[in-house]
Amino acid sequence: MKIPVIEDLKSIYPPDRLLLQSAQLAPYESDGLTCFRSKPAAVVLPETQKEVIKTVRWCYENSVPFSARGSGTSLSGGAIPVKNGLVIALNRLNRIVRIDPQERTITVESGVVNLKVSEAVLSHNLCYAPDPSSQPICTIGGNLAFNSGGAHCLKYGMTSNHVLGIKAVLPDGEVVQLGGQSLETVGPDLTGFYCGSEGLFGVALEVVLRLIPKPEFFRTMMVAYDAMEAAGNAVTRIVSSGLLPGALEIMDGLAITAAEAAVDAGYPKGAAAILIVELDGEKDAVESDFKRLKTLIEETAATTVKVAQNDAERIKIWKGRKSAFSAVGRLSSDFIVQDGVVPRARLGEALAEIDKLSKIYNLRVANVFHAGDGNLHPLILFDGREEGALHKAEELAGKIIKLCIRMGGSITGEHGVGLEKKAYLPEMFSAQDIRVMEHVRSRMDPKMISNSDKMIPGGEAPALVSQGLHPLEKQGILSRE
Ligand SMILES: Cc1cc2nc3c(=O)[nH]c(=O)nc-3n(C[C@H](O)[C@H](O)[C@H](O)COP(=O)(O)OP(=O)(O)OC[C@H]3O[C@@H](n4cnc5c(N)ncnc54)[C@H](O)[C@@H]3O)c2cc1C
Repeated sequence: MKIPVIEDLKSIYPPDRLLLQSAQLAPYESDGLTCFRSKPAAVVLPETQKEVIKTVRWCYENSVPFSARGSGTSLSGGAIPVKNGLVIALNRLNRIVRIDPQERTITVESGVVNLKVSEAVLSHNLCYAPDPSSQPICTIGGNLAFNSGGAHCLKYGMTSNHVLGIKAVLPDGEVVQLGGQSLETVGPDLTGFYCGSEGLFGVALEVVLRLIPKPEFFRTMMVAYDAMEAAGNAVTRIVSSGLLPGALEIMDGLAITAAEAAVDAGYPKGAAAILIVELDGEKDAVESDFKRLKTLIEETAATTVKVAQNDAERIKIWKGRKSAFSAVGRLSSDFIVQDGVVPRARLGEALAEIDKLSKIYNLRVANVFHAGDGNLHPLILFDGREEGALHKAEELAGKIIKLCIRMGGSITGEHGVGLEKKAYLPEMFSAQDIRVMEHVRSRMDPKMISNSDKMIPGGEAPALVSQGLHPLEKQGILSRE
């Protein structure tokens, strides 16, 4: 579909904020799922909420598909433009509207970067808990759309647990206020309904976030094992002991090698797995839990135990984990970051299966995961220059996703369904479930213009990934770089 009256957008945007040239559009053609791209007809850079509202109304009147875009760090293709549609890029919608330390809330525009929220309330000794590894760049709008998580979501919950209110412009141009400033609301949880809607319900303009007291004290431990199973067993012990760490993360040997090469985090060379456990909260409570944790860890088959002695050492331990995705780029120019969930008790089994699949496909897989939540992030390494390598990697990624479903888990823990995983939605949900999703979506977006090719498969379920064209390419949704 071509934009019919592009000239109209010139009445909303000056030339430097209405991008039309091929070279200007290129950075917006893709997102964190870099192996695919799709050309938009134009990109607009609104600076005010009014401009966003006018733009969405214009799209509705002219039946022009659009996609909201934060920082484009989506790893499931959620921010890849609808072909020949409009991209509404929201990084300039970045005002902090109000801070209320008494109520422990902050109201921000949706283009505010996640880390800026905690920085803005630091002087009040408060912080914003959800901490995706991409937090220095990703936006609150993107976090909301994907219900993003992070290392500390084990204890504090996902984005949806921290959103109190949303002002949004729906796909038909209506502006709505969902929820508000308070935890206590009347009626159904409409903010919860909007969280995780992956850009299908228009554009979030302003978000009210809950803040928590900045943890007073931390105890951070890095524990190495010579077998992944031993690290998995340690997680089971910790969780079943009743301790609730702020974070409980595992990295495997390949991920450790990559992180060490990239940021020199001090992880032991040759370890098959490391476990990062962090306790946070009031000093006395943390110290008492730490005694219990040390005893538990001593009873496991740990080969190295390192406890951070100060903030610098704590940051160093986290630096390796937080940079793991990009660090894998040192081992392979191309890789897919997959995101799936298995029941925590079946983590060991899932990892053994992934290892088998990696051997069958002859592709290296590095594993980094939020062990406390059973949220796996297998990183599948391949050489994109080799004929068919991407398809092979996509096929392996699909097998891992199906494994998660078989084990009673989910096709996404925090990265969303986006474009990449919509072919697997019918594997997880019945046709009836999907019809309900379609029904809700068509009531929210009668013209199907809001990020319309994402999350919900249209019509018949597309074939699963196989050799040859990717299903999304077959549908004409994506084209190769
Ligand atoms: C190195 C790296 C590490 C990562 N680590 C994590 C992690 O630990 N945890 C995690 O959960 N994710 C992680 N991610 C994935 C990604 O950062 C998150 O999904 C993030 O929330 C995306 O934010 P964004 O601003 O980049 O959104 P984009 O990628 O621009 O968009 C994501 C989705 O949100 C929609 N959207 C954006 N803004 C709005 C808005 N205002 N209103 C409505 N819809 C909107 C888009 O249409 C799209 O569907 C990581 C990504 C990278 C590259």
